[in-house]
Amino acid sequence: MPQSIPLISQSSNSAAFRGYRRLGSTDLQVSVIGFGASPLGDVFGIANPEEGMRTVHLAIDEGINFFDVSPYYGLTLAEERLGKALEGRRREIVLSTKCGRYGAEEFDFSAQRVRHSIEQSLRRLRTDFIDLFNVHDVEFGNLEQIIGETIPTMRRLQEEGKTRYIGISGYPIGVLMRIAKAVPVDTIMSYCHYNLLVDDIGQALIPFAKARGIGVINASPLHMGMLTEQGAPEWHPAPSQVHYAARQAAEFCKSHGANLSDVALRFCVEYSRVATTLVGMSTTQQLYQNLGTLRGSIEPEILQQVRAILAPVHNTLWPSGSQENYCIDGNSELLQRNSE
Ligand code: NAD
Repeated sequence: MPQSIPLISQSSNSAAFRGYRRLGSTDLQVSVIGFGASPLGDVFGIANPEEGMRTVHLAIDEGINFFDVSPYYGLTLAEERLGKALEGRRREIVLSTKCGRYGAEEFDFSAQRVRHSIEQSLRRLRTDFIDLFNVHDVEFGNLEQIIGETIPTMRRLQEEGKTRYIGISGYPIGVLMRIAKAVPVDTIMSYCHYNLLVDDIGQALIPFAKARGIGVINASPLHMGMLTEQGAPEWHPAPSQVHYAARQAAEFCKSHGANLSDVALRFCVEYSRVATTLVGMSTTQQLYQNLGTLRGSIEPEILQQVRAILAPVHNTLWPSGSQENYCIDGNSELLQRNSE
């Protein structure tokens, strides 16, 4: 079977970009592939800082304009590295960072910390404003505090010109929607809810966001590294049967001259109901491979086979956040079934 998606050689500098989409009701136009900067913070293994910087520069040259980071990624390392790379290039991009999560178990959604957090992020990112400031992993917070204190503080920061827009991010869709129903937000960043393994984002979140003009950002098209040849990092929270199915899918692709990450990313960029798909990258090889998915198409037979291999674990979720929060999530029933 012919290779469906050609690899783009590293010497190619032709514009791979097919497009930009408006981010909800904002005036931001974001590239259909966004740059997830968590790998720059060594979240997926040790990254080479010079290579990471080169990757950021080439991504901008190639038309990627949406960059997402957080103080949590590498405990500020990703922000430091991205900030360094963005020197002289800041105005060419839409920059997103977060507040509220600062460690695996460290959260602070208070007004005071939000204010301190943005000042620290601005310093590390070497800029005087953020384009999109997000509450990071809302399901770990007290929702009343996020609704009544965190988000109103972020709106004040917006009025003060520290950020252009504000959003929320997290895993359980029901929790994200609960917050966005109670208090207006400009964007919702959802991860591992629209890709080859889990694709339930369209059931409730997309129609809800569309009705309210909220921009949706789809993060983790590779299911946090699982839908790749090298497989998931050790800390990945998915149940073992999901890891196993993804390995089988990767082997199938390899034996048919294709690459699972290409199939997975292409599947996501074709989904136009989200503004952008955020993929984590730290090497130029990954960047060019990912840009290549904008040019090719997936052999329908390959996609069909991959989906068949992954079907037994389709829409398998894991619990995330405090017990009280995932109990209110619309997916709690599904979660329960998956853990039985
Ligand atoms: P992802 O699905 O994008 O996978 C990233 C992993 O895949 C990394 O190990 C990366 O090196 C690897 N990779 C990338 N391209 C590859 C290729 N062509 N071939 C092989 N491997 C490749 O997961 P992610 O990084 O978690 O998600 C993307 C971004 O979304 C993050 O960096 C972050 O900015 C954002 N995000 C936000 C939240 C949140 O706010 N709660 C959660 C998850 C992700």
